[in-house]
Amino acid sequence: MRRKIAAGNWKMNGTSNALAELEHLTASLPANAPTVVICPPSTLLFRACETARNIAIGAQDCHMQTSGAYTGDISAEMIADSGARYVIVGHSERRDAHEETNTMVRDKAEAAWAAGLTPILCIGEALEDREADNTLNIIGGQLAGSLPSGVSAENTVIAYEPIWAIGTGKVPTLEQIIEVHDFIRTRLIARFGEDIGNAIPLLYGGSVKPDNAATIFKAENVDGALVGGASLKASDFAPIIAAL
Ligand code: PGA
Repeated sequence: MRRKIAAGNWKMNGTSNALAELEHLTASLPANAPTVVICPPSTLLFRACETARNIAIGAQDCHMQTSGAYTGDISAEMIADSGARYVIVGHSERRDAHEETNTMVRDKAEAAWAAGLTPILCIGEALEDREADNTLNIIGGQLAGSLPSGVSAENTVIAYEPIWAIGTGKVPTLEQIIEVHDFIRTRLIARFGEDIGNAIPLLYGGSVKPDNAATIFKAENVDGALVGGASLKASDFAPIIAAL
């Protein structure tokens, strides 16, 4: 049995008031809920860790160095110091707006491990890749380039997020999701062996909402979701968690 994970990525949304949503979510979770992770903006990390009881907290990015002259960046060690346990690395918005390469994403995942954090490592194709029938090539390249060799089922979560589905309300068909998740699983088994490859949790992300989550979770190799917009309100995120 693989770990089931519902992760919420608040992106650049939320001031202190948003902590009330965390309180609502904490209160609404049943005792047998899957692992729930909320990744608020870094300004809220410490307070989110104090507020969340049955919810793990994650950051949205980390630097690959532990300290130094990197104005504006935060290290994995700083994130761990806040009490957070996860960090998203390689989100397409970072790969795009901050020109993060596969190598940088790999280094960030290793920095996360060194600080005792679990990276939620994102991969996904652009619309033009999908239209050119190049999705699996892109995914294969991102997996090979951004996953370090020390991956285990306990220390890493992978999120497949087609860029064209993020924040657009467009969701791939269940068949498309199954195709990519099965492909990722096959690649993980080929590289890390049956035991590790079969046990790494794979999340789907991109316009997951309360009304489509149950369908997406039908795919055998979908072990949860990375949710943006619908994670901001406890009343939206709770039914997604319940569908898992
Ligand atoms: P979305 O974002 O759920 O708002 O599409 C997902 C993500 O970017 O992680």
